[in-house]
Amino acid sequence: ADERFDVVVVGAGPAGAAAALTAARGGLKVALIERGEYPGAKNTFGGVLYRKQIEQIIPEFWKTAPLERTIVEQRLWLLAKESTVSVSFRDDRFMDPPNCWTGQRSKFDQWFAAQAEAAGAVPLYETGVTDVVIEDGKVVGVVTDRDDGELRANVVIIADGVNSLLGKRLRAHREWQPDQVSLAVKEVIALPKEKIQDRFNLDKNEGCTIELVGETMGMAGLGFLYTNTDTLSLGVGVMVSDLKRLKIKPYEVLNGLKQHPMVKRLIDGGEVKEYAGHLIPEGGFTAMPPLAGDGWMICGDAAQMVNAVHREGTNLAVESGRLAGEAAISAHTTGDYSVGSLEQYSKAVRKSIIHKDLKKYKGLHGLLSFPDSDKLFGQLPQAVNDALFDFLSVDGAPKRDKQKLAFRKLEGVAGGRMDLVRMALKGWRAMN
Ligand code: FAD
Repeated sequence: ADERFDVVVVGAGPAGAAAALTAARGGLKVALIERGEYPGAKNTFGGVLYRKQIEQIIPEFWKTAPLERTIVEQRLWLLAKESTVSVSFRDDRFMDPPNCWTGQRSKFDQWFAAQAEAAGAVPLYETGVTDVVIEDGKVVGVVTDRDDGELRANVVIIADGVNSLLGKRLRAHREWQPDQVSLAVKEVIALPKEKIQDRFNLDKNEGCTIELVGETMGMAGLGFLYTNTDTLSLGVGVMVSDLKRLKIKPYEVLNGLKQHPMVKRLIDGGEVKEYAGHLIPEGGFTAMPPLAGDGWMICGDAAQMVNAVHREGTNLAVESGRLAGEAAISAHTTGDYSVGSLEQYSKAVRKSIIHKDLKKYKGLHGLLSFPDSDKLFGQLPQAVNDALFDFLSVDGAPKRDKQKLAFRKLEGVAGGRMDLVRMALKGWRAMN
């Protein structure tokens, strides 16, 4: 307990492991604290892991990291009760160099944290951080649930995930509001490799992702179905504000999706191996807290760094962890751990993809609340499916009539023609 560290990193998820690895490589004395039995033990995600940001820290990591399938095809399904509109993109260029993979957090986080350990970070697992130590207004360490209590450090890197206790403690942010987080549930379903490959039209190591829009009982949320080596990950995340408003439990939505005829045939015969739930930050750009203070920096989910449109979270976490690690190294060089010095981390985030991408979608949050959410995630997918059903049915009705009917259906969702135009404009602005 008397041991003093240059850096204490709280949380050994992608953000924390990246920060610890970077700082340890820079010669700093680093402690990596994780409350789970091992890194990843309690973590879950969809999940897709991206090459770019991890590669910047560990070149060609995919040759040794535990990964599942390399994603060559990404599909988007707009679901209605019995049907789906499907958009898909497949390109074999995604294989070499790989763009992204499916992965399991229990394996990946453990592997990633082991790289930080190999670089010299001291692992303190099965250790929960319960508070920060503040002296003269500066963070100078953390309190843990171990017998020997406190750990002192020049800088604390907060990477404790969406429910960030330390973020709240430092008043970097408030308790997240129900419209700033979604609750996701996920099942891992075992199926023989060959069956997965046949059903999804894949070769040996190739993978496919399907994002599911619609059939979330009118709540703002997305489902997903991803191929792992010999399992499928099926899940759905819905805004907590909607779950509260409608008093629905997320697993009811998941059970509904499992019964959907398009999903059912893909998971048929599979055996559920795991079930997990987790929050996802959805507040985006406007919910991001201040990223640094005297003696601390905050990264990843704890700082709302998730791009929900592109289901990117792990990569932004890794990027922010690396930037915080680098800021810790330069603070160590000058011996200055004040907010003025650590602000270089905030500046680096502002110049990075994290800030740029979250800023691009900053209007999106507005579309996630009722009644827009009900229109976008409930009525619209059904109307588009119905319109296509009519349009493609050869039933003797002239195409012009069918076209009129299709537009009327879409207008019906918006409330009228002008409302449809307004809604389209609002959507366009939110995405730009
Ligand atoms: P976390 O991964 O949450 O890690 C935080 C760590 O801190 C945990 O290990 C936790 O145990 C530990 N911790 C917390 N509190 C304490 C404490 N007090 N003391 C000690 N340790 C503590 N992202 C993608 O890139 N691709 C996807 O496909 C994707 N799909 C997702 C699907 C779901 C269902 C969910 C829930 C998320 C998904 N995400 C996805 C988002 C992604 O998982 C997160 O953005 C990412 O994990 C954030 O990393 P992090 O290190 O900031 O936080």
